[in-house]
Amino acid sequence: MDFLHEWLPQRVRFDTGRATAALAEEAASAAIARPMVIATPRGAALARTLTAGLDVAVLHDDVREHVPADVAERARTVAGEHDVDGLICVGGGSATGLAKAVALTTGLPILAVPTTYAGSEATDIWGLTTDGVKRTGVDPQVLPKAVIYDAALTVGLPVGLSTSSGLNALAHAVDALWAPRADPINAVLATEAVRSLAAALPAVAATPDSLPARADAFYGTYLASTAFASAGSGLHHKICHVLGGRYDLPHAATHAVVLPHVLALNAPHAPDAERRLAEAFGAPSASAGLRALYDELDPPRTLRELGLSEAQAVEAAAAVLSVVPESNPAPADLEVLETLLRSAWAGS
Ligand code: NAD
Repeated sequence: MDFLHEWLPQRVRFDTGRATAALAEEAASAAIARPMVIATPRGAALARTLTAGLDVAVLHDDVREHVPADVAERARTVAGEHDVDGLICVGGGSATGLAKAVALTTGLPILAVPTTYAGSEATDIWGLTTDGVKRTGVDPQVLPKAVIYDAALTVGLPVGLSTSSGLNALAHAVDALWAPRADPINAVLATEAVRSLAAALPAVAATPDSLPARADAFYGTYLASTAFASAGSGLHHKICHVLGGRYDLPHAATHAVVLPHVLALNAPHAPDAERRLAEAFGAPSASAGLRALYDELDPPRTLRELGLSEAQAVEAAAAVLSVVPESNPAPADLEVLETLLRSAWAGS
């Protein structure tokens, strides 16, 4: 019972159907008068609608997944040219990630309006990709000052993306249970996240326009991310970062594919995590619970279908080996990692 738990200072609003008003209130509260709005080209129209009542200095839509360093540099230049006093990101983890890259060097405050279940909005973790290597770091400056979860903004997220993104959220929770700073508090957050996501994601898949199901998915997403931010990156995240940075794979789908393999490796060596996950899934074991959820959701199950060759998957093992957390419950040498990645590639 000896541990140090750090809570991140952030305002979190669940405000279904009220994102525009909530954003105006949060901008006033954070004294942001000339925001730079960051969204993908696809999300730009929504971002414009949500910020119509604000004095937007510039809308920036040059957003790429995994935040390539040159994309980050361009966004920082735009922020400087327009003399902005805050950042508003509307969209998935890619839009949030770019806002974080700008905040990292400028200290500008961020208001986040997520539209996927990536969960980046609730962490103080940034990521940048240079020459195929994704670096991550922790900095309090990149933690959004406020997050507005409006479930109505996610009803248009296609079921396939909702499922993969929701499993990315689930992975934050599962991996938190054996991450370097796992503690009894983030374990409670992670367990409740798994319980809520295991119920919400099938409901979202069955009824994509259900606002209660979408709000529940956001609730699980938020809890999972706070658990992840507090506990740190476990083996699962290390593997996905190597794969995402090296091969530019889709982030959410990669998480969906890799998670069952890391669970199968670690659960037998982590009795507390095994018990918590089985209970949260309402299943005889953690793996049985995850398998039942995957059978219901039918997410991508192989790295092969994401476009990776078997040789690439196996070759990534060496890069993962150098970043395996000491806290990982199962031994993970090169042979174990190669076997895991080969299984994830084939879906076996
Ligand atoms: P994304 O932001 O790239 O979004 C995926 C796709 O969904 C995009 O094409 C986007 O335009 C579309 N989209 C988003 N919202 C939509 C909506 N409501 N309706 C229809 N389409 C919509 O991907 P993501 O999975 O949300 O985020 C992945 C990125 O986030 C990665 O770069 C990852 O590293 C980062 N991430 C960071 C953290 C962190 O703590 N730093 C945590 C999780 C993810």
